[in-house]
Amino acid sequence: MKVGIIGAGASGMMAAVTAAEYGAEVTIFEKNDRVGKKILATGNGKCNISNLEFDMNKYYCADKEKLSRLFSVFSLWDTINFFESNGMLIRNKNGYLYPYSEQASTVLDIFRKILNDRKIEVYTETEISDVRFHKEKNKFSVETKGQKHEFDRLILSCGGPASQRKGEGMTGYHMAQSFGHTLHRLVPGLVQLRSNDGFIKGMAGVRCQAKAELYADNEKLSEEQGEVQFTEYGISGIPVFQFSRMAAYALDEGKKVYVKLNLFPDYEEKAFLYIIRSRFDTMQEASVEEFLLGTVNKKINLAMIKKEGMKPGDKIEKQGFQKIKELMQSYRSLVIHIEAANGMENAQVCAGGVDFEEVDMQLASLKQPGLYLTGELLDVDGKCGGYNLQWAWTSGYIAGRNAAGNSTKELIIENGKGTSNAKD
Ligand SMILES: Cc1cc2nc3c(=O)[nH]c(=O)nc-3n(C[C@H](O)[C@H](O)[C@H](O)COP(=O)(O)OP(=O)(O)OC[C@H]3O[C@@H](n4cnc5c(N)ncnc54)[C@H](O)[C@@H]3O)c2cc1C
Repeated sequence: MKVGIIGAGASGMMAAVTAAEYGAEVTIFEKNDRVGKKILATGNGKCNISNLEFDMNKYYCADKEKLSRLFSVFSLWDTINFFESNGMLIRNKNGYLYPYSEQASTVLDIFRKILNDRKIEVYTETEISDVRFHKEKNKFSVETKGQKHEFDRLILSCGGPASQRKGEGMTGYHMAQSFGHTLHRLVPGLVQLRSNDGFIKGMAGVRCQAKAELYADNEKLSEEQGEVQFTEYGISGIPVFQFSRMAAYALDEGKKVYVKLNLFPDYEEKAFLYIIRSRFDTMQEASVEEFLLGTVNKKINLAMIKKEGMKPGDKIEKQGFQKIKELMQSYRSLVIHIEAANGMENAQVCAGGVDFEEVDMQLASLKQPGLYLTGELLDVDGKCGGYNLQWAWTSGYIAGRNAAGNSTKELIIENGKGTSNAKD
């Protein structure tokens, strides 16, 4: 079986090494000058390959039941097994899994070795924009620099436009569309959110533990807790990343989007009021700035004082309890109006993509026999924490093995929780 793969990223390389393991003659085409370049940037250069806290709530997908069954074919345990059996030690940091070296290049080195060992033909600096299926020969053809390649099966693993230069990263979708596939609206995911609220600039550079709630047209869409970062243009950090794709879709639909932050998420309302009262009673002589000293970051305090129409030097006793209480309580419901999500160039993942219902349980196209789709190209995206790479490994494995003619049908666990071992 001759299998051609377009895109040597996470899912494409997994598809290639799997198809070769199951006996296929594999060729992979990559537009960059080397394979797996994006992997080097993942996880801040450490590559968060998967996560022990795996469940379907970490994914956005139209059919989570189907997605769950796919993960039962190649689960997080199969990811661990794959890397360990190929020599890579794994580091577990609170459930987040990395190569033990904490260097993304280790993951890439492992893939490069297997690609080489399994004699996979690799073409770099080769961007494919046109693939054809020839009915009479029952073969796909791909043209590169005057050379024509023919394949029995073709896997599209081109990823999407996330983290690409503006306007780039769309060829995979276009090729899928040329076979009749439907493309769902693309928005940036795992990305910073922009705000024009003036007070944010004063907080730029500060990181702060917070509970963050996302609202669109006053409807609460999501809630996250963790370290929020204030920037010159808005907000960032994992909690913001986690719901950024929801914000991006809501903004795209013309909804009014805002994020409500609680900068004292660890305090119950009653305990917080007690703290305000006792500080007020014992700090009558203090200025507002002194009153807030020792609570959260000074830059936040100064910005909040200004926002609430006070001056740092204003005396507490002159303000009175009610005003001070209001000032402190504004930290617990700080509203940030969101104007936009940062661009696709800044996003770690692209939400949207090829309709997930247009592939079967082997990730074979329902539009074009012999065609398979993997990874970010499909309308599946995950939260931050290793879930997107897990989808890349899972989808690459399934597409690669089935394209090689070795069905994964038997491995599907109905109502599976993604705990299988995909090895025969
Ligand atoms: C900065 C950053 C950090 C991230 N960190 C993490 C993390 O730690 N953990 C995690 O789970 N996820 C992370 N992600 C997300 C994760 O990297 C992606 O979800 C994953 O790589 C998607 O795999 P893929 O195979 O679908 O696409 P990609 O990995 O993007 O691979 C697609 C490949 O196809 C090539 N290509 C595209 N079009 C063509 C064409 N026409 N012809 C030839 N080649 C083509 C591309 O150059 C690319 O090499 C991160 C993403 C970014 C940008």
